[in-house]
Amino acid sequence: MEIRMVDLQGPYERIRDEVAEGVREVVASSAYIDGPAVGAFARELATRLGVRHVIPCGNGTDALTLALMAVGLKAGDEVIVPAFAYAAAAEAVLLLGGVPVMADVDEATFNIDPESARRCVTPRTRAIIPVHLFGQTCAMEPILDLAREYGLSVVEDNAQSLGAVYAFADGRRRYAGTMGCIGCTSFFPTKILGCMGDGGALITDDDHLAGRLRMLARHGQAERYRHEVVGINSRLDTLQAVVLRAKLPRLDEYIGARRAAASRYARRLGAIGALHVPHEAPYTTHVYHQYTLRVEPGCRDRLRERLAAQGIPTAVYYPLSLTQQPAYARVCASDGRLEAALRLPQCVLSLPMHTELTERQQERIVAAIERFFEE
Ligand SMILES: *Cc1c(COP(=O)(O)O)cnc(C)c1O
Repeated sequence: MEIRMVDLQGPYERIRDEVAEGVREVVASSAYIDGPAVGAFARELATRLGVRHVIPCGNGTDALTLALMAVGLKAGDEVIVPAFAYAAAAEAVLLLGGVPVMADVDEATFNIDPESARRCVTPRTRAIIPVHLFGQTCAMEPILDLAREYGLSVVEDNAQSLGAVYAFADGRRRYAGTMGCIGCTSFFPTKILGCMGDGGALITDDDHLAGRLRMLARHGQAERYRHEVVGINSRLDTLQAVVLRAKLPRLDEYIGARRAAASRYARRLGAIGALHVPHEAPYTTHVYHQYTLRVEPGCRDRLRERLAAQGIPTAVYYPLSLTQQPAYARVCASDGRLEAALRLPQCVLSLPMHTELTERQQERIVAAIERFFEE
């Protein structure tokens, strides 16, 4: 029983017939671009998330780029992003000539620290990108308050937390990706809702922004061959929409399987004093895109090697803060008080996490970790 970091085969087996039938229909119609499945999927996802508009696009990084274009980011504008995260948000800012300003993260949740974000605000700040990392939402209420106070656009990077729910203090509950002016998500195969290649989407309740996003993703065309603004070309393939339509009704099942695996991990690993299991913040549900431990820096790499020797894969998301990345180090600004974002790259260790993990596999993983710490 080989243990895998991710398993894409299991979920596919359960939708095989639907996908085969859908693919046959697409091939029969030759509607490879903008076929009916694309619009149908967009409507179904919008309904699922309770929003007015879902605009499919080529991938999650394009979604972030399009969102920043739609809110009118100009060269020299500053955008607050977390210093510990996947690079796509900072990259999109830089490609548009903006300056990413790196805020620290909360060590326990890995997500942007609203207090640090507040210290990053300057007269040039235009937007903030909360990245909902590893499966739970950022502390959105203080971020939305900050944005309102300074007139910032909130663009959510929801590539890792589709289906997570944030609870406001007044009891309102909103899905990740539906709280800012635009939410960006990815259907990269390993994401919570993954297709069989690249895919992404923009989520918004704002009719005006939705219109701009649709236009920007089509070379800036409002109508065919009339280019109102300079846009990009970013589309979701019809074949990918077929796969996503088959998977969307199973989203709760995928999240349920991940949460069950996470609670099995936590039951045993939570008793080991030398490590921290993922902290579930009280204001959000956790959909466990990743199951990420924190261990002491020196011990992390030894544990990782020991597990690898026993056929147990692990991963380090992410080995550098964004301020340490060669491409960004000299072109970003940051809160001068980054601490967690600089410490976490040495401490984090992600365990296998997917819908197909069995109790026996987890028993092997947990027992190997227990043995390591007993020595
Ligand atoms: C995967 C991911 C992206 C980018 O999505 P792609 O579809 O690969 O372009 C952006 N942000 C985060 C946090 C991600 O995990």
